[in-house]
Amino acid sequence: METLNKAQKGEVVQLLKELVAIDSSQMPGKERVEEEMASYVTHYCKAMGMTVDKQEVAPGRPNLMAHWPEQTGSKSLMLEAHMDTVTVEGMTVDPFAGKIRDGKILGRGTCDTKGTMAAFLTALRIAGERGQLPADKLYFVAVMDEETCCEGAKELMKTDFRTDAAIVGEPTRCELVTCHKGPLWFEVETRGRACHPSLPEKGRNAIDEMARLVSFVHGAYTEHIQHKSHPLLGRSTAQVTVIEGGTRINIIPERCRAKIDGRYIPGQSLDEIKTEFERMARQQLGPEASFHIVSTKGFLPLDSPVESPLVRKLQKVIRQAGGSGKPQGVNYFADTGPFTAGGIASVIFGSGDIAQAHTADEYLELDQLYRATEVILTLLTQNVGRSILGE
Ligand SMILES: [Zn+2]
Repeated sequence: METLNKAQKGEVVQLLKELVAIDSSQMPGKERVEEEMASYVTHYCKAMGMTVDKQEVAPGRPNLMAHWPEQTGSKSLMLEAHMDTVTVEGMTVDPFAGKIRDGKILGRGTCDTKGTMAAFLTALRIAGERGQLPADKLYFVAVMDEETCCEGAKELMKTDFRTDAAIVGEPTRCELVTCHKGPLWFEVETRGRACHPSLPEKGRNAIDEMARLVSFVHGAYTEHIQHKSHPLLGRSTAQVTVIEGGTRINIIPERCRAKIDGRYIPGQSLDEIKTEFERMARQQLGPEASFHIVSTKGFLPLDSPVESPLVRKLQKVIRQAGGSGKPQGVNYFADTGPFTAGGIASVIFGSGDIAQAHTADEYLELDQLYRATEVILTLLTQNVGRSILGE
């Protein structure tokens, strides 16, 4: 097991401070959010001897793909972290100072996810300098706009850039996350027929139909999707979260819309879920009801095979570093969604606790930062000249 010496610990902290000092927060109306971060990361990777490719998704908002051109292994592994953070509004600590207090570094992005980015870059740099690299083609990928809805990763998957596997950097307390649920957001509409409310039988009340749909979602539908459970994720859920319908107090409403937040365990494609929902809802509302799905948006859940060489090797190092190494499930989703859909075997690993992400006093324990760096460095140096993705 690699352990960082004092100088190396100082270096990873300094790197994180510099990343935190760059404002890459998603504030309403802000443009070119990741431009400065991207130029810093590009510089850092080039100084390591890496070539950096850039996908300009929007002006000043690129995805970066860095690798060592001399690495020509047949398999490829990406270490990935997003460059953006959530807003700094309402923060109770200086978001950019990277102040250190009680063994913690404070500021926006320390936990989500610049700490993990600093750990990945430092591990790559140390292993690279020593010439102790695995046979796999290693990529460091920094994406834009994860916090909105994994937009950067989605855009990257529209190109032909692919790796065999990915370690996505998000706060997991240096444990291994192999699965998360997939969200599927429905917007549905019921249509009725407007009329005077004193003669309701002349029309059809769209809100009434929606009310039946809501009881269906929270009743029969929920019961149906909860038949199956996943050992790490529990059961799927579906909740109506937004509803709007009707225009005036004295008109029977002809239109009602609702939004439904569904969180699904692995096992069904998004299309299968949608078709099943539609079929059951139609049955429930009856043939005369006018109901349709206006839009859906979603991600595939993550369910990485726990017997893959990457998972096994990471587990071993995590245990050596004092962690449990047990595969875990989480409630949030990440760039693993688009990557999985793009055919990349993905897991999540990183420093810090998701409970500290997006908070007013966001922080990262320095021990977590060191541990994440040591785990990734060990993963690289334990596999010098061999494939991490092979037996
Ligand atoms: Zn994140």
